[in-house]
Amino acid sequence: MAEFSIIDTYFNRRQNTAVDLGIGDDSALLLPPAGHQLVVCTDTLVAGRHFPLDTPAHAIGWKSVAVNLSDIAAMGATPHSILLGLSLPDAEPDWLQGFSDGLYACCDQYSVNLIGGDTTQSPHLNLTVTALGWVKNGQAVMRSGAQVDDLVVVSGSIGDAAFALQHLGHPLQKRLDYPTPRCELGALVRGLASSMIDISDGLVQDLGHILKASQVGAHIELNQLPIDPVLQALDPQVRWQYALAGGDDYELCFTISKDNYQHLLEQQPNVATTVIGRIQAETGLVFTHNGQTQALHLNGYQHFA
Ligand code: ADP
Ligand code: MG
Repeated sequence: MAEFSIIDTYFNRRQNTAVDLGIGDDSALLLPPAGHQLVVCTDTLVAGRHFPLDTPAHAIGWKSVAVNLSDIAAMGATPHSILLGLSLPDAEPDWLQGFSDGLYACCDQYSVNLIGGDTTQSPHLNLTVTALGWVKNGQAVMRSGAQVDDLVVVSGSIGDAAFALQHLGHPLQKRLDYPTPRCELGALVRGLASSMIDISDGLVQDLGHILKASQVGAHIELNQLPIDPVLQALDPQVRWQYALAGGDDYELCFTISKDNYQHLLEQQPNVATTVIGRIQAETGLVFTHNGQTQALHLNGYQHFA
């Protein structure tokens, strides 16, 4: 199957929202809404590294979009479009159909358009999605704004995907294969949260980025972590390893004043949010369990370790 028929057959569906020029020319054209900044990010998924080799094509398609929309959400921005860089060992129609169905399922769910990309043959399956979105001028939520006494809040539950990776076939595998980008929450939090990040490498590492950028520390109460009942049943050190250092959660972690958190709750976000701790002036991350300081022995994920 030739490159152009792959594009036409699998990657040239109707657009969800207005695009001035989509797939088919040398570049796409977009008109940003007045008074907004372009927010842009990219993420690569490598077969065997970012997902197990036998992951269904549909899930790979979904996930390649979802992880990027999660980065856009983590800025408090609204996603608009994606570009797809596709490197494939061979053009297998069943795989391409499943992959593009999964990719468009995620695009449709969040009203996002596929506006272009590149298709190449390669010895390894490799997917790079670039996402574009908008945020009102100057209103993006960055990692650097956390203030002493802010609450530390996370969405949904954490550790599910890391648990599933070790227990393939468990019902929690849907959390690994089909992460839910928290787009509505991210937009709701804009103007209220002082800092935000999406949790892709585990809470400790990602909250650590906020603390470093904001030059503050935090205190986390382990009993407050939002953890699925399946993980609650595990030995505490194992459970905390999944929840704090597992990765692939794609939940949001943000810091917010007490008053602003009340305003947020009044708007009834479509996902649960949980206060897990507080920002403090002293740098570093301190854990307590039932009020007692708790030492943790976590193994984090390092890309080039
Ligand atoms: P060029 O050679 O000018 O780079 P291409 O032949 O690579 O153009 O692409 C033709 C059109 O198809 C472009 O609009 C490009 O953005 C789009 N395209 C190519 N591959 C993909 C893909 N995997 N998904 C979506 N659009 C794609
Ligand atoms: Mg090209």
